[in-house]
Amino acid sequence: MKFPGEPFKIKVVEPIEQTTREERDRLIREAGYNVFNLPARSVYVDLLTDSGTSAMSDNQWAGMMLGDESYAGSRNFYHFQESVRSIFGFRNIIPTHQGRMAEYLLFSVVVKEGDQVPNNTHFDTTRANVEHNRAAALDLAIDEAFDPHSEHPFKGNMNVSKLRNLIERVGRERIPLVMLTVTNNSAGGQPVSIANVRAVKSLLDEFGIPLFFDACRFAENCYFIKTREAGYEGKSILEIARELFSYGDGCTMSAKKDALVNIGGFVALNDDRLAEGITTKLILVEGFPTYGGLAGRDLEAIARGLVEVLDEDYLRFRIGQVRYLGELLDKAGVPIVKPIGGHAIYLNAKEFLPHIPQSHYPGQGLVVSLYRDYGIRGVEIGTVMFGTKDSKTGTPIYPKLELVRLAIPRRVYTNTQIDYVAEAIIELYQKRDQIRGLKMVHEAPVLRHFSARFEVI
Ligand SMILES: *Cc1c(COP(=O)(O)O)cnc(C)c1O
Repeated sequence: MKFPGEPFKIKVVEPIEQTTREERDRLIREAGYNVFNLPARSVYVDLLTDSGTSAMSDNQWAGMMLGDESYAGSRNFYHFQESVRSIFGFRNIIPTHQGRMAEYLLFSVVVKEGDQVPNNTHFDTTRANVEHNRAAALDLAIDEAFDPHSEHPFKGNMNVSKLRNLIERVGRERIPLVMLTVTNNSAGGQPVSIANVRAVKSLLDEFGIPLFFDACRFAENCYFIKTREAGYEGKSILEIARELFSYGDGCTMSAKKDALVNIGGFVALNDDRLAEGITTKLILVEGFPTYGGLAGRDLEAIARGLVEVLDEDYLRFRIGQVRYLGELLDKAGVPIVKPIGGHAIYLNAKEFLPHIPQSHYPGQGLVVSLYRDYGIRGVEIGTVMFGTKDSKTGTPIYPKLELVRLAIPRRVYTNTQIDYVAEAIIELYQKRDQIRGLKMVHEAPVLRHFSARFEVI
């Protein structure tokens, strides 16, 4: 079998408009060569993100009709709480409208000016929320994470000795918490092993530092543990998830990923005093603690999605579809990050376009061509997203990796559309010499990739 077949059939369809190359050429120019500025209806296969783009099941839609929109004590909140607690095990479950609000609330309560927050690799909003509190966001993934050729099975792992050195150097008081992102999105959707989580946990116990998970893709991470880590092949995804979270003190979650919904999130934690601080802030910026910026029906869809995402037939298809795309590209010699991660394929733009220097944004150049020539939308994860400047000299600082992420929405595209994407990229690779670099002509002070504008060099 080439790939695991879809473990669902289609009940509702959403038509996609077809566009011509000339139309897309005009649209991308008008968008300032930033695909975030494109109208989605002019995209054929949208791989911008797997966040909030999932197709819900008939069971989730049925649950939406059972929304109890009471201001306080909605029955959907109790179902949501029970569903989250049965998987994550934390005592306090606080709903938010998406993951970054969970981060904002948690960090504004625990992080102080001058603190250091280590993570395997911070996601962009996580980093921004740490820095918003005038603290430093440190990425301490293992060295293999930065080597696109390393086939390490758990490239999301934290470098435990670097973490120890950091704690000993700056002191426990400066480190309010340590985060582990499962799977490690910014470093290629790579999983973290249970063994690594245990090692991090026992180090943190020595110093009394809490461990939090950025849990967005926890089910995908658990599937990798089941298929790659010795001793876990016979366990269910639920059992693995429960063990994983038993080593933590809490988590932030974007339900837009592994809760299979279009909006939502939560922060969950054991510490009652911190939970009270977070809840107080929540009321100020989101809403009452039993809805936290969501409708009752949204909470119901999350409660049901969290159960569906643990299904192994679903996960085998999900991870299998991503791997299928990666293997087609790899066989054709297209440079991708390996091993293939859980939710996305990452094209290695530095190797794809060796003729474009990092200062001319090769990743962005690739994203632009992919849209203009084939109607496929990916996203740059490189200098546009993570490049900075030295605060004294203004010299640009470039990230180690220059990637283009093709994130696969959950249960949305058929394997035929995935074949189209593979053929398009292989064709583009064959004419890669024609792709040109870009010059940034507008940038915002934070999270500049969302609004930057470019010109072709
Ligand atoms: C998406 C994501 C977030 C932020 O969640 P939003 O729902 O987009 O606000 C945080 N961390 C990781 C790893 C993510 O992938």
